Amino acid sequence: MFFIYFSVFVFGAVVGSFLNVVILRLNTGQSVVSGRSKCFTCAKKLKWYELLPIASFVFLRGKCSACKTKISWQYPFVETITGIIFVLLFQQPQNIFGFSFLVLIFSFLIIIAVYDYRHRIIPNLFVWIFNGLVFLGLFNSFRISDFGFRILNWNNLLAGFILFSFFALLWGVSRGRWMGFGDAKLALGIGWLLGITKGIAAITLAFWIGAIAGVLLIYLNKSKYGLKSSIAFGPFMILGTAVSFFWGEKIIAFLF
Ligand SMILES: [Zn+2]
Repeated sequence: MFFIYFSVFVFGAVVGSFLNVVILRLNTGQSVVSGRSKCFTCAKKLKWYELLPIASFVFLRGKCSACKTKISWQYPFVETITGIIFVLLFQQPQNIFGFSFLVLIFSFLIIIAVYDYRHRIIPNLFVWIFNGLVFLGLFNSFRISDFGFRILNWNNLLAGFILFSFFALLWGVSRGRWMGFGDAKLALGIGWLLGITKGIAAITLAFWIGAIAGVLLIYLNKSKYGLKSSIAFGPFMILGTAVSFFWGEKIIAFLF
């Protein structure tokens, strides 16, 4: 059993490595499928053993082998997170179609989270692909144990519009200072994916984790993050979504 889980983790880490490439090349005009990866500082082409997920970062001790420039923590971080999420999805009662479908959905969420963290903007194309995929999933109620299309899940459909309205209201009232409109678009898909109870749990978690992270950032680095500066909210919404998706029932039972 361990070998199966380990293989799923490695598969996830490899996909995570590809997600890193997508995140870095998005909106730069570079192709995500062609062109070998190279060091951003000295342009050294990376050899195959320098491209292994997680392992290469460890044995290169986080530095480029030619110019010794530090390699971003983003690489092993995204690879590890993707590996863990794949294992968690694999643990759900499922068949191969349900697993593949959710793997796709969560891959887009990871891209959106990291891209928003780096650039403070939610890429339109990817949020609409995510929303499109979860909309298709509404016809299946995300019951990955018996994947197949059946009648529309009206409850989740409505939940998406409720969460969207909440964020659109925050956006409108603050004229975009508290939330971007991208957060509202993301909330639409999150509601469709989770339904209203788990959706509210996800958003509540996002506000709590975001508030704690905000206080920590101000405390740890007073010069860089003043009270006025904002941090992207998308990564917290997506973290809350993942926690609620996997452990929502337990969290809701604990709180109410
Ligand atoms: Zn280099």
